[in-house]
Amino acid sequence: MLQDEVGKCISCGFCESVCPTLPASGYDLWKGARGRVIMGHELVNAVREGKAGQLDISDSFYSCLDCFACLQVCPAGVNAGVVSHLARSLIVERQIKENQNPYARMIVAATMKYMNPLGVPASSDNWAEGLKFDQDSPDLLYTGSMYQLMAYTGGLNRVRQMAGHRLSKMMAGIIAGHPSAIRVSTSQRDRSFQKQLNNSLRNIVRLLQAAGNHFSYLGPGEPYPGTFIYDLGYLEEFREYANRVYRMLKESGARRIITVDPHTYDLLKHTYPEYVEGFDLDVIFYADLLSGLNISKIDRKVVYHEPCHFVLREDSYSVPLTLISRAAETVMAPRNGKRNKCCGGPDELIFPDLSEKVSNERYSELVATGASEIVTACPICLANLSKEKKTRDMADLLAEASLR
Ligand code: SF4
Ligand code: SF4
Repeated sequence: MLQDEVGKCISCGFCESVCPTLPASGYDLWKGARGRVIMGHELVNAVREGKAGQLDISDSFYSCLDCFACLQVCPAGVNAGVVSHLARSLIVERQIKENQNPYARMIVAATMKYMNPLGVPASSDNWAEGLKFDQDSPDLLYTGSMYQLMAYTGGLNRVRQMAGHRLSKMMAGIIAGHPSAIRVSTSQRDRSFQKQLNNSLRNIVRLLQAAGNHFSYLGPGEPYPGTFIYDLGYLEEFREYANRVYRMLKESGARRIITVDPHTYDLLKHTYPEYVEGFDLDVIFYADLLSGLNISKIDRKVVYHEPCHFVLREDSYSVPLTLISRAAETVMAPRNGKRNKCCGGPDELIFPDLSEKVSNERYSELVATGASEIVTACPICLANLSKEKKTRDMADLLAEASLR
């Protein structure tokens, strides 16, 4: 509960030293970890007194990246990311309209209608054209449309920039009631980046097959897993949505789901079982199936940017690092492992300016290592750190090192 989590805080401020949104916001206390915990207190008290609508607090919680860097340094075991999630959930549950973010409502409405947050039509999801799958296999490759969506997020933000802050906020509120309007932004997709992302997905399939795996695929227009609905605190909607996705996965005959990004992996593995009664699918990340790959080292120095979901959650997951190290000389940024720094990606749709500042800072740290390439294992990190064509997906590096 929110009250229990904020009640542990001893106000030491250690968490502020690692929270990426604090410096990116110009040291706005309320967009830092300790400020979020203080705001959590305020919210609990205001709800108790029936005055939550009078608080101006929502940006504090919605701007949190849910990276969990704060938890790693907190002597009292407080997780300001969890505080932010609980606060967003409380705002939704108590229907505190004044504090609900219009972009959050827009994303949730579009996802419920189209089964992806941007209303991307299935006809444009053609990355797998010409690839062969084993449709009788009990293993199902599930992309969750995460790579596919990254070509569209920049387009939505361009529309927002053109409209200006006030108008785009108003438009988001309108789209929340009429989600089909979000499709206007899909014409703004980045076609060259889409080609790169499609190629990474194709490389994932080729790598898995080269390592001897057989698996099926749902086809164009796969459902998005609902990550944003959960993260934004719309838990009842998430329950309904997760059950819809689960039924689709089960109807395919799958017994094991091969995920290709850390967010989908984490959501299916750890959150779906709480919201889907009788959940009985095994969930793995595709890198776990690549041990049989014949990888030859390329003469190149790369820096690996770790996804927060792989290193800042309870269990660290290092298989991608092991594979990347086999493919090229690999260095790490000064902040890595349990001190990892987020790419800013989770803020991209709600706070694009803040997201860009976080990603610029992380990018500079990665470039300063002297590596010639930045390698990621997450399409959101890839999209946020793709600057000056220095950044590539792990699948592309591994394909170069093993499929020649
Ligand atoms: S590090 Fe923990 S105890 Fe200290 S201010 Fe942050 S949340 Fe509170
Ligand atoms: S989860 Fe990340 S962004 Fe959120 S408060 Fe903690 S360190 Fe800051």
